[in-house]
Amino acid sequence: MARNIIDGKKVAGIILQQIHEDVQEWVGRGNRPPKLQAILIGDDPASRTYVGAKTKACREVGIESDTVSFPDTISVRELKEEIRKFNRDDGIDGILLQLPLPGHLHPSQVIETIDHRKDVDGFHPMNVGRLAVGQPTFRSCTPAGILELFRYYSVMTKGRNAVVVGASNIVGSPMAIMLSRENNSGKATTTLCHKYTRDLTQHTIQADILIVAVGSPKLITGQMVKEGVVVIDVGINRLTDVTSKKGYRLVGDCDFDSVSEKASLITPVPGGVGPMTVAMLMKNTLLAAKKSIYPSKE
Ligand code: NAD
Repeated sequence: MARNIIDGKKVAGIILQQIHEDVQEWVGRGNRPPKLQAILIGDDPASRTYVGAKTKACREVGIESDTVSFPDTISVRELKEEIRKFNRDDGIDGILLQLPLPGHLHPSQVIETIDHRKDVDGFHPMNVGRLAVGQPTFRSCTPAGILELFRYYSVMTKGRNAVVVGASNIVGSPMAIMLSRENNSGKATTTLCHKYTRDLTQHTIQADILIVAVGSPKLITGQMVKEGVVVIDVGINRLTDVTSKKGYRLVGDCDFDSVSEKASLITPVPGGVGPMTVAMLMKNTLLAAKKSIYPSKE
């Protein structure tokens, strides 16, 4: 790896090893292994790949998992009923609803049905609310994984200018909350940009830390960042590539060549943020099994 490349795969591997040991210790004390229930809707190949990566990680760390697939014609009512069954099942600790959902299923409506104590993705309003006010919570996996990368690479956020581009509920918004909180994690001066931001460069050029989660290849170029910036590229975009076996290659939201020339640290795509998201899902599932966030019936 080049000097300024953040190796997410390596850091995720270290975290998974620790989780494996913690699971062994938990089971050694007479508890059943944690269990993750994945829900896959429709036949989007990318979603199938992501769920496959998550269940593979479960096997590696000793977490049990099961995946149930529903056709993309499933109604909101039917899906909610299925989720309620998983909520009631004491043998299930975490529920993973793979996004995106087909158009007729509104994520917020369905996510609210998941028991917040099993919401290992950290998308339920209860968990997002607790994040916003600094209470223990299931933190959204991608931004939580990014903070772990900062910890591993000793990236200080306190008092620095952090700019988040992309304001989704699953990445950008919780990232901005984590970075901006004064009394835990971030302590950064945080700017959250989105599609209505006028003159994006005016903001990105100020960033000591730049996090990009948009889904737009080469949105950020070298001219838009300052020398020494730490860049986290969350975007995953499939570009057609006939020379590749799969017929496509993955790229992020940054023009890697020009941005990496100026960055002091940068995540590659793939191999940067993606593995950390999976590792943090494992961590949340273990926390759910141990009832660490919600100790009693809340
Ligand atoms: P999204 O698709 O829900 O929303 C995109 C966001 O980008 C919106 O807030 C929108 O306002 C903003 N945006 C769009 N165009 C913009 C522009 N020109 N300038 C500034 N902001 C703009 O976002 P998402 O679900 O967070 O996904 C973003 C990307 O991150 C996708 O490529 C997705 O595949 C990827 N992703 C990766 C991981 C991972 O683990 N690596 C996890 C989740 C998402």
